[in-house]
Amino acid sequence: MPDFWIRVSLPILYSALAALLVWAIFSAVYALSFMVLVLLMLIAYRARQLYKLVRWLNDARLETVPEAGGVWDEVFVSLYRMVKRHNLTKKELADELQHIEQATAAFPEGVASLNELNRIEWCNPLAELHFGLNAQRDIQQDITYLVRQPEFFEYLHAGEFAEPLVMKAARHDEMLLSIVLVPYGGNKRLLISRDITQLERIETMRRDFVANVSHEMRTPLTVVNGFVENLQDMDDLSHENIQRALQLMAGQTRRMDHLVSDLLTLSRLESDDHPLQAEMVDMQSLLDEVYRDGQMLSAGRHQHSLDVTGVARLLGNRDELRSAFGNLVSNAVRYTPEGGTIKLRWDLRGDKPVFSVKDSGIGVEAQHIPRLTERFYRVDRSRSRETGGTGLGLAIVKHIALRHQARLEIVSEEGSGSTFSLVFPEKRVA
Ligand code: ADP
Repeated sequence: MPDFWIRVSLPILYSALAALLVWAIFSAVYALSFMVLVLLMLIAYRARQLYKLVRWLNDARLETVPEAGGVWDEVFVSLYRMVKRHNLTKKELADELQHIEQATAAFPEGVASLNELNRIEWCNPLAELHFGLNAQRDIQQDITYLVRQPEFFEYLHAGEFAEPLVMKAARHDEMLLSIVLVPYGGNKRLLISRDITQLERIETMRRDFVANVSHEMRTPLTVVNGFVENLQDMDDLSHENIQRALQLMAGQTRRMDHLVSDLLTLSRLESDDHPLQAEMVDMQSLLDEVYRDGQMLSAGRHQHSLDVTGVARLLGNRDELRSAFGNLVSNAVRYTPEGGTIKLRWDLRGDKPVFSVKDSGIGVEAQHIPRLTERFYRVDRSRSRETGGTGLGLAIVKHIALRHQARLEIVSEEGSGSTFSLVFPEKRVA
């Protein structure tokens, strides 16, 4: 700093010495005039530098920092460094902000920050989607003006956020949201929303499934129980009576056994621990077995045929294929009245192998077709049960098809029969 003062004073000092010399050689008036002239020049020079500085400050960019000599150079160099540091900090902050924005955008949940007046300070894209917001347009808007569901309004004002609020999304009726508010930084709150549509759907499916299984088990159990109680109360325990009751009980236990084994098959097919064990399956022998099983089930009540023109070998799992084909054939037998026909066919559609079972049975109304592969979905409950159906056959077929990247196609007309086809991808041709 002392150095600075010396350098600022030096021009005045030198001109004062020069003025003294002028005084000594000429006169005091000349010396004074000389001194005034020098000082005016100095003021003009500094005014010019000040002007440059002010002009530059209006648009302070590194490239346009003015150049000057003496102390002014020092001023401009310091300013240059300051702007450079400032630019660097600005860039670092912008990078940091961008990181934070990217992180919040990648959040699997919607996040919006609300101030003490419930005005939106910022929000991520998922929050925009969940609440139908627009991050640019709606900033500083009161969220209760934009999300108008009464339950949301109540939740926001109740101040009790231990339990999440479950509500439908503002502009997507089919989307279910779980919402929590987390207080932070004094009076602010983070509004966190999660799309639980899928979870809720799975939960409903699970509940329905448990209810269905319990119901399916309860019916035969009730029947068996009834027989046991009857037998206990019966005075006349004749051999004939016992035989009849045991026969009926055996029918019910068989039904439970089928149900449990279908349930186990389904759970095995769905489990991730059981990837498909593919092998080269000799189709002729497999189809012969399925055909024979079908005839046995029919016990002479239907006319069967088997037409094989497709590939000799398929890359797949023999047991699973047999179970899927067998289920389709067993359905054809069970839903075709006596005297009807059941045609099995193994052929090619373009390059794709196709197994199909065509029956002349009762058929299915079009509205039921999309739901037939749902577990326990039946068009006619009593008919399915009477014929020993568990309601799981087509669900099993669909799973096996999925595991073989095959498609299950159903063509049916009520009263005139159905064709169930499994269309395999070309890549399964051995
Ligand atoms: P189920 O054990 O009841 O037969 P599935 O899952 O195999 O269960 O079939 C579901 C429903 O699809 C059946 O209850 C029946 O209503 C209908 N269905 C299946 N196959 C046929 C068919 N070949 N003809 C007519 N209806 C059928």
